[in-house]
Amino acid sequence: MIRNSIKPIAIIGGGISGLTAGVALAKQGIDSIVFERDEALNKNGSGTTISKNALDLLERLDVLDQLQKESFKTDKIIIKSGKDKITELSPNILYTTRQKITEILAESYIKLGGQILYGHNFKFFNEDKKELVFENESKYLVSHVLACDGINSKLREKYFTKNEKAIFSGFNAWRGVTKEMKMDSAEMHYGPNAHLVTYPINKSLDRCFIGIIKSKNNLDESWMQKGSANEVLNDFESFDDSVFPILKNSTDLYKWGIYIRPPLKKLFVENITLLGDAAHPMVPFLGQGGCMAIEDAYTFGMLLKTLNNDFARTQLIYNKIRIKRVNSIQKLSMRIATINHLSNPVLVGSRNMIMKYSKIPQLAQRKLHDHKAHEAIYKNLN
Ligand SMILES: Cc1cc2nc3c(=O)[nH]c(=O)nc-3n(C[C@H](O)[C@H](O)[C@H](O)COP(=O)(O)OP(=O)(O)OC[C@H]3O[C@@H](n4cnc5c(N)ncnc54)[C@H](O)[C@@H]3O)c2cc1C
Repeated sequence: MIRNSIKPIAIIGGGISGLTAGVALAKQGIDSIVFERDEALNKNGSGTTISKNALDLLERLDVLDQLQKESFKTDKIIIKSGKDKITELSPNILYTTRQKITEILAESYIKLGGQILYGHNFKFFNEDKKELVFENESKYLVSHVLACDGINSKLREKYFTKNEKAIFSGFNAWRGVTKEMKMDSAEMHYGPNAHLVTYPINKSLDRCFIGIIKSKNNLDESWMQKGSANEVLNDFESFDDSVFPILKNSTDLYKWGIYIRPPLKKLFVENITLLGDAAHPMVPFLGQGGCMAIEDAYTFGMLLKTLNNDFARTQLIYNKIRIKRVNSIQKLSMRIATINHLSNPVLVGSRNMIMKYSKIPQLAQRKLHDHKAHEAIYKNLN
């Protein structure tokens, strides 16, 4: 399937951005290798929603059918504030997990002839020789590097923003899954200084929750830190009783800190391009981090093919297309935090009235989800 004989593109990181990039390139007959630090596909991560802007691209990459078979779909999400149901929204969203998306992308990439090399922790890129060196001392000559190594991106810190470290966003997160509550609803609950979403992640209706709380004390940015039912119940004690069953019933409770980085002006330097969380980590209030990773990866892959492997032009147009969108969504995600976490009763009442009686939530959602990355590519090439 892969026809290109030039040196492969190195994709550092086998998360959503890296694997989508691998599939997008392989579909165009462009050779790449995914270098992943872990010894196997990372099985951690929370429930994840994928909205229409990214679903359309997964369909174009022929991975949507499989993902849909193994995920949950509903056309409504119930929004509650305390005991009150304030509205229902009907976005085109797929409910799944980060693990499921990466598993299906990895399978598709391998089928298309892609290669994933595990246990390859990026160490250094010799820009003159275009040689990548890993902590295990293996070396590879490559044509270009896609930095898809997530929020703690070594590539970003070495070649883009020296000495910059990810900073605590002021929010910690909880997640858990239960097989005990077979309900087919997706719900968002607002509470004071916190919010919680809960939805099925597959056709068996295994149900996840993700709860976010405002906090002065930062937890580590790790998918692996376990917590207890007592702690999570304590963190959400001011919530309406209806959320307690999911908190009590969930197994494998994890908690972690949410970190961010400032927006960049440029997503590339010579021979290295940033994608996904390495480029624009964002707080998860709009559920768009993974969707932006998919848009980035699709855009880079399609541009490179259309521009006949001209990396310099691809980088320029990729930057032009992506920078405004990702930076604005990064900023908007943070603003939504304030709205989701209101505690003043007057402001809570005003928010709930707007949610209930105005078209603002639907219009805002449409603006985000109706974006067509494939059209943006052709518009910017002509
Ligand atoms: C609580 C929470 C809920 C979320 N909900 C949603 C949602 O509903 N919808 C949505 O779209 N997004 C959501 N997101 C965001 C989404 O999970 C991320 O934006 C997305 O996973 C980013 O993908 P990525 O591939 O860029 O980075 P990552 O998923 O972090 O992958 C990076 C990969 O690079 C590897 N790596 C790191 N360093 C190296 C190295 N030195 N060498 C080699 N490999 C390396 C890592 O092991 C990892 O596999 C949520 C995030 C959080 C925290």
